[in-house]
Amino acid sequence: MMIPAARDLLRAVLGAMAAWPVILAIAGAVSCTGSSDVESGQDSLAALRSAMVTDQIARRGVSDPRVLAAMRDAPRHLFVPPEARTNAYDDSPLSIGHEQTISQPYIVALMTELVRPNAGDRALEIGTGSGYQAAVLSRLVATVYTIEIVEALAREAERRLKDLNYSNVIVRHGDGYAGWPEHAPFDIIIVTAAPDHIPQPLVDQLRPGGRMVIPVGSLYERQDLRLIEKDVSAQIRTRTVAPVRFVPLRRGRAY
Ligand code: SAH
Repeated sequence: MMIPAARDLLRAVLGAMAAWPVILAIAGAVSCTGSSDVESGQDSLAALRSAMVTDQIARRGVSDPRVLAAMRDAPRHLFVPPEARTNAYDDSPLSIGHEQTISQPYIVALMTELVRPNAGDRALEIGTGSGYQAAVLSRLVATVYTIEIVEALAREAERRLKDLNYSNVIVRHGDGYAGWPEHAPFDIIIVTAAPDHIPQPLVDQLRPGGRMVIPVGSLYERQDLRLIEKDVSAQIRTRTVAPVRFVPLRRGRAY
């Protein structure tokens, strides 16, 4: 968990910055605001992110420098509802409404490292949620296609990503079980909601040489995070990485 002093600092920083709502909304895209309060607020947020990376992520073994840099860059506090902002850099998942959650920072970093992103890769995410995982991944690949089944979340994430200049993320509202055949094959697939089996359409849409990370299991039993790799001759290799807890992958209709 975040130490209390850090949370107090974040509360103070966000309180001070709330006086500049427009600037806050585009924080990260702005490098020269002319306001020293806002600049020092940005510095404090950067310090919190840096502590998050050191204490929660690197300490648990994520070591890819590009992944750590992407986690240090992404303004997680702008991906959570205003009332959750003071907890944005806690070592935990947070509610984003519609009974859904933004994953714990460590899990986002772990999943990003497991799929070994390359600059030219085309990636697919199932479960856009807040857009945070897509934002982190988008800094490490060419394009991220992401599908969200709850329409309100899809629209919110699309707007947020646009406002924050994540121009290589494309959001679609729908059921991600069937993947996105029009843009397949994908070098990377990240699934951030748990089905009880691995969807065959996603395996089919993985490029030879591609990597997929997916939590598998039921809500009430154990879920395992699995890494699925398709080699150049299209052979599948599956490895179980860690026990995890994700919201279930919903099926059937869009919400
Ligand atoms: N990656 C998100 C967190 C995802 S929580 C983030 O970074 O914030 C899981 C999300 O998967 C929820 O928003 C949920 O609505 C969505 N989801 C569940 N079933 C889905 C499906 N079949 N297709 C697409 N999205 C789905």
